[in-house]
Amino acid sequence: MNFSDLALAEPLSRAIAEKGYDTPTPIQQAAIPPALAGNDVLGLAQTGTGKTAAFALPILNRLAANPKHRLKLSTRVLVLAPTRELAAQIAASFTAYGRYLKLSVACVFGGVPIGRQERALFPGVDVLVATPGRLLDLVMKGACDLGHVEMLVLDECDQMLDLGFVHDLKRITGLLPKQRQSMLFSATLPPTIEDMAQRYLKNPIKVAVKPAATTAERVVQTVIHVSQPEKLALLAHLLVEPDVGSAIVFTRTKHGADRVVRQLSAHKIAAEAIHGNRSQAQRTRALTGFRTGEVKVLVATDIAARGLDIPAVSHIFNYELPNVPEQYVHRIGRTARAGREGRAIALCAPDERAFLKDIERTIRMQLDQQALPGARGGSPLGSASTNSMPDVTSPHTVYWRSRKRASSKQMKNWLLALFGALVRAIEQTPRTCGTSLNSAFRSGRSLPPVPVPLGQPPCAMKLGMTR
Ligand code: AMP
Repeated sequence: MNFSDLALAEPLSRAIAEKGYDTPTPIQQAAIPPALAGNDVLGLAQTGTGKTAAFALPILNRLAANPKHRLKLSTRVLVLAPTRELAAQIAASFTAYGRYLKLSVACVFGGVPIGRQERALFPGVDVLVATPGRLLDLVMKGACDLGHVEMLVLDECDQMLDLGFVHDLKRITGLLPKQRQSMLFSATLPPTIEDMAQRYLKNPIKVAVKPAATTAERVVQTVIHVSQPEKLALLAHLLVEPDVGSAIVFTRTKHGADRVVRQLSAHKIAAEAIHGNRSQAQRTRALTGFRTGEVKVLVATDIAARGLDIPAVSHIFNYELPNVPEQYVHRIGRTARAGREGRAIALCAPDERAFLKDIERTIRMQLDQQALPGARGGSPLGSASTNSMPDVTSPHTVYWRSRKRASSKQMKNWLLALFGALVRAIEQTPRTCGTSLNSAFRSGRSLPPVPVPLGQPPCAMKLGMTR
């Protein structure tokens, strides 16, 4: 199928051609025709499949075919999205696809002053993209009237429910006209979303391009087993490998993200954090710096796991494994976008093995194990090993030092254990141990059993054993 087969209005076809799209993606092929015909749509699509255009193009086409005067405080199209970043991205797509149509697009979300948004909505708009909380604030203030909405989109619906927007969604949909076209998009279809689809959609056409929770196909996924204290040095070491273009590092908590940024900067790696505790200005600045390539590393909580479309992301590092396995799928979906390759590396500490198992069960595959650099079979050394004058502050050098520290600590523990065992053996075998211990040492065989006083542990010990 070609875009010309969809018979979109000429200004839309022109804008799409300028964006470089020639063939509609599978979700676009499936969703655009029924949406153009005015049907409700239930779309199940992985992030990165082109689903924004799957709803934006038919909506813009319908607006263009039926122009109307804007009504004060009103909007003809309402798109609800879970996060501020995703809302901004959707609004930017509407603006780009509709650039040759005389339409107005507004975007409202929390974390920024409300006044400017009130002023933008006052004359009325054609398309309003919003996060649910801020939209309700504007409605309560009398700055927005939802009584003239003709088309509704609920995007990333499962995340909206995860973020606790269920009551806000009920209130908002209660304010919309019953007669409208509605589309609901979600990455997964749990019973709660099916309920919502029944409540908000009328005889929807169901389109699905991938079963839920399959991982992005072009992402090469591996796991490195590493102790918690060694994680940061390993991350810094991996981030400066030459194949890492730009990377997103995921942590489970906001404080964790801030800590990683601080620690990376101590390794002279510029990183920015993006999470819910940062102001909108900080989030926007972080994202802009990352998009433009000024900042190579974005450290994020799961707020950035959905929807964000930054084509140049080469690597995803799961610095902390998510405790909700589906979140892993969303996280790694930030790479290998728009036909590119991508890598996802999970750093798994011993206490995260259960999370790893859940993830592997969800994605129905086992992650390939990547050896810890420096371990037997590990990847070749980075610059520090090949450089005769190593930079003592380079992440590679710091990493090797930490590995050395870890292995010498391990060696020390083994020697202490061995020494302790020897001392115990000698204490418990005052008469028999002398010569036989020496010969056992040389041959490496087991010590002969020794008479053990009642109540003490036996001291048969294999010499050469390390633990
Ligand atoms: P989305 O899933 O909507 O976030 O889109 C993912 C990426 O695919 C975005 O960078 C879009 O610009 C791009 N895209 C969407 N539709 C097409 C298409 N038909 N051909 C090529 N790229 C597309």
